[in-house]
Amino acid sequence: MYIFGQPVLRKVAEEVEEDFPQLKELIENMFETLRRSEGVGLAAPQVGLAKRLFIVDLDCLSEDRPEYKGYLKTFINPEIVEFGKETSSYEEGCLSLPGIHENVKRPTRVLVNYLDENFEEHEEWFDDFPARVIQHEYDHLEGKMFIDHLGPLRKQMLKSKLQAMSKGKFEASYKCKPNR
Ligand code: ZN
Repeated sequence: MYIFGQPVLRKVAEEVEEDFPQLKELIENMFETLRRSEGVGLAAPQVGLAKRLFIVDLDCLSEDRPEYKGYLKTFINPEIVEFGKETSSYEEGCLSLPGIHENVKRPTRVLVNYLDENFEEHEEWFDDFPARVIQHEYDHLEGKMFIDHLGPLRKQMLKSKLQAMSKGKFEASYKCKPNR
């Protein structure tokens, strides 16, 4: 897992071409990494690849939320076409920001155009939790992270923690690749 401070997390990612080498293996590896780190979403820049690809795994929540059984999705070259008008606030975390959890306000619905793992195009509305995860992961493709959505006071309070993190001082239960 690439951790805050790694330049790849701040790059605008590039489109994935259909002939991208070993795309299937890459997606499988990302699902495996996500399972091991017990997250719900993972974007390619978080594994060091500035490509417009992210995955979502809500199956791990299906014990409490049976509607998420088998919810494994791949988004290639996604675009958020439209945002709903309503917003909500919810505590987010990020595998690239271990130990940081903050409330983030986001629209509750999004219309997304994307290609799946077979390069088939979809245009779909997502609501509530899936909509939030998708917006969080989409941000990664734009070189953004959830801390960018915080107000100046919260940002100030996190400053020293983030500085330490970018120097490799943090704790995480999964394999990490800090900048130093
Ligand atoms: Zn994240």
